[in-house]
Amino acid sequence: MKLVLAQMKHETNTFSPVPTPLARFAHGRPTPPEGGDAYEDFKGTGTALGAFIDAAEQAGAEIVIPIAAQAWPSGRVEQGAFEYIAGRIVDAVKQGCDGVLLDLHGAMVTERFDDGEGELLARIRRVAPKVPIGVAHDMHANLFPAAARCATALAGYQTYPHVDMYETGTRAALPVLGLLKNSCNPVLAFGQRPMLPHVMRQSSLDSPNKEIQARAREMEKAGALSATFFVGFPHADIPHAGVSAVVVTDGDAALAQKYADELLETAWTQREAFVYRPEPLEKSLEHARSLGVRPVMLLDHYDNCASGGTMDTTTVLGAMLEARLEEAAAFAICDPQAVAQMQEAGLGASVTLSLGGKADMPALGLKARPLQVSGTVRRIVDGEYRNEGPMARGERMDMGPSAVLDTGRVEIVVISRQVEPFDIAAFRAVGIEPARKRYVMLKSRVHWRAGLGEIAKAVVECAGTGVCTSDYSQLRFRKVRRPAYPLDAM
Ligand SMILES: [Zn+2]
Repeated sequence: MKLVLAQMKHETNTFSPVPTPLARFAHGRPTPPEGGDAYEDFKGTGTALGAFIDAAEQAGAEIVIPIAAQAWPSGRVEQGAFEYIAGRIVDAVKQGCDGVLLDLHGAMVTERFDDGEGELLARIRRVAPKVPIGVAHDMHANLFPAAARCATALAGYQTYPHVDMYETGTRAALPVLGLLKNSCNPVLAFGQRPMLPHVMRQSSLDSPNKEIQARAREMEKAGALSATFFVGFPHADIPHAGVSAVVVTDGDAALAQKYADELLETAWTQREAFVYRPEPLEKSLEHARSLGVRPVMLLDHYDNCASGGTMDTTTVLGAMLEARLEEAAAFAICDPQAVAQMQEAGLGASVTLSLGGKADMPALGLKARPLQVSGTVRRIVDGEYRNEGPMARGERMDMGPSAVLDTGRVEIVVISRQVEPFDIAAFRAVGIEPARKRYVMLKSRVHWRAGLGEIAKAVVECAGTGVCTSDYSQLRFRKVRRPAYPLDAM
C-alpha cells in the first residue's frame, strides 16, 4: 500500500497587509521541506502530519511526503506559492497511490481562489477520481461545499487552544485506512450556518463551544467515525466564512446528516453567546492595576499573529508604558529592523527605538504608528526553540533573530518572524520567566492558554489596534454571504 501524506496549512486573514509568499512557508529554507526533511520535521510531533506518519507506518504502508508547508496566518496566499505547493501534491498523487492523507488548515484563500483547499482537492480528484482522501482541518476552517464533496473522510480539531492536532490526524486517517482494508465504508455529511462567531468567544474551554465539542465527542463514542463542529474564521471576506459541521459515519448517511444538523442547530440557537463586546483600553488597564495578583495576563487580542495580525502594533504596549505598569513583560513586537539595531548596539547598550508600527492596514483605513521607546538591550538570541507544551508539541519554532529591550518597567521582546506566544519555551528562549512578572502582555487571544494558562492568576482583555480586531464594525465585508449573524440581525 502506497500513501501520499502532505501538509498545506494557512489561515488567511483577507484584511491582513502581511504578504504570503512561498518563503513564508519555508521558514528560512529555500522551499518548504519535502521527503526525508519533512519526515524528520514531523515524525514524533503532536501534529496531524505526525499522526499520519504513525498511522501509515503501523499499516505497513510505503510513504511519500511531497511537501509539508505551513505558514503563520497572513493575507491572501500569493498565487505562485499556492501553485507550487498544490503542484507538488497533485504531481505525487498522479504518480499513483492507494490513498491520500492531507493536513490542511481549511481557511486558505489565495489571490485567485477563495477556497484554496477546495481547489487543491478538486485538482486531486481530477487526476485520481477514486483514490480515498482523508483530510485533517483546523477548527477555524471556513468550509466550502467543494471540500466536503471531494473528501472521503474529514475531521477537524475539537479543542481551542488546539491541543488535539495529533488525535485529529488519527480521526482523519483511520476511516481511509479502514476503507483500504475493506473494514469500513465512510460516508460524509456536511452543513453550514450563516454565522461568524467572535474568536474571543470560540474557546472550547468556555461555553457554548465547550458543550458543542463534548457532544461531538459523544457522537464518536456512539459510533460516528468523526464528528466535527467548525467555529470558522471570521476575518475572511469570502462567501463561506463561518460555522460548519462534518460528520463521517460507517455507511449510515442519514445518521451522519442528523448529527451534523444537530451540532449546527445547537450553535445557531446559542448564536448570541458567540458575540464578544470589547471594552475601552483605559478601562481594561485600570482594572488590571486594581488586581492584587501576579501574573496578570494582558491580551493584546486585536493583533494576534496567529489570526493574521502584523504583530507590530503598539497601542497596548504604549498604554502600558503610559500607565507606568511595573515588573512587566511584553511578547512580542515583530520588528526585524529594531532587532538589527539592538544587535548593532550590543548587549547592555542604551538605545532609543522607533519600535513596531511598520505596516499600514489599508483594509481598516489605518496608518502604521511606531512607538518611540528607550531602554537597555538585555538579551540577544537566535530565536529558535521547540515547543514544550501540549500545542504542536515538539514542533520546531523560529522567531528569527530576537532581542529584549528593558525599559526598567517593561521587558519588551522584539522578534523578526511572527510567532504567537502559546508555549513557555517562547519566553525561555529570551530568558524571561513569565510567572515571576506582575504583568505579561501577550499578542494572543486563546492559544496562550495551552502553555501559559496554568500560571495566569488573572486575565484582562485589551482592545488595541490590528487586523484581527474583535470590533466587526471596523471590517468592511463585501463578499461574505448575507444575511450573516451578527453582521445582520437574525
Ligand atoms: Zn485555529
